[in-house]
Amino acid sequence: MKIKLASPFRNAFAVTAALALSLAGCKSCGSQATSGKPKVAVSIYPIYDLVKQVAGQDAEVSLLLQPGKNEHTFDPTPKDVEEVSKSQIGVMVGLGLDPWMEKLMKDAAPKARVLKVGDRVPSRTIDIEAIGEEEAHAAHGGKDDDDDHDHEKGQIDPHVWLDPQNARLIVRAFAEEIAKIDAAHANDYRARADVLDKELEALDKELEGRAKALPKKGFVTFHGSFGYFAKHYGLTVLAVIEPFPGSTPTGAYVQKVLGVVKEKKIPALYSEPQLDPRPAKVLSDEAKIPLGVLDPVGGGPQTDGYVKMLRYDMAELEKYQK
Ligand SMILES: [Zn+2]
Repeated sequence: MKIKLASPFRNAFAVTAALALSLAGCKSCGSQATSGKPKVAVSIYPIYDLVKQVAGQDAEVSLLLQPGKNEHTFDPTPKDVEEVSKSQIGVMVGLGLDPWMEKLMKDAAPKARVLKVGDRVPSRTIDIEAIGEEEAHAAHGGKDDDDDHDHEKGQIDPHVWLDPQNARLIVRAFAEEIAKIDAAHANDYRARADVLDKELEALDKELEGRAKALPKKGFVTFHGSFGYFAKHYGLTVLAVIEPFPGSTPTGAYVQKVLGVVKEKKIPALYSEPQLDPRPAKVLSDEAKIPLGVLDPVGGGPQTDGYVKMLRYDMAELEKYQK
């Protein structure tokens, strides 16, 4: 039941099938949460971590995409559909990142509120300047299916959460959204949002200082996930190894990236935990430079928390960008 964004029909079928399975296998599944607390379903880990901290003990938050999986594709299980069917709020990024979540909400919880955090923050467009769009297209076999739409030059970059200033806006937006359906705890949500806001503000200051001190500001990422992070901290993404996540780049495209790596004297390359690292490994072997790991989604042992994840990513850059 692997679902790629490209196939709305397969997607619809799988969600419907999972919904049927879920309902068939669950006699006592009502739409009412047993605890009486509001239930919130969140598409991806970094947003989940922020939402969970605002929710505190007053709401139940569930995560759909499990850590380690790529954020652009999703396999809904009957359990996922059941979780979503009980939720009063669905939180997703939007901007083409997680349409699978939107589909799940529509099918399993059509009456729930939907918060698309990507619509609540300033967004940026994708510009892969070092390697042109034609090459990127060729690297993808010239295909132009729905899979591509969120990673093409000129499109809005959906990885908005990797800028802590955006995270602050996301935290605010969620606190207000849940306050609307749980007025009794509105001030508790806002108070927790305030605490988190201060933490994010401090994190941002810290990372700003650390980014300024990086000897080499240009870096090459695995997929096009660190655009907001780079822009915010005065860094430059010089090339992207796998412009279409999950789709192995061609040898010709890899050679182009290698050219950039050599020309710009790039000190290291980075894979990402959610994607097969082989293209990055091949490149780093060929260029004889080290291979680090940048994590855009988190939830692993070193990245289990939004703040922890951004600190980890900066530490990884500090290790290699010199
Ligand atoms: Zn991505």
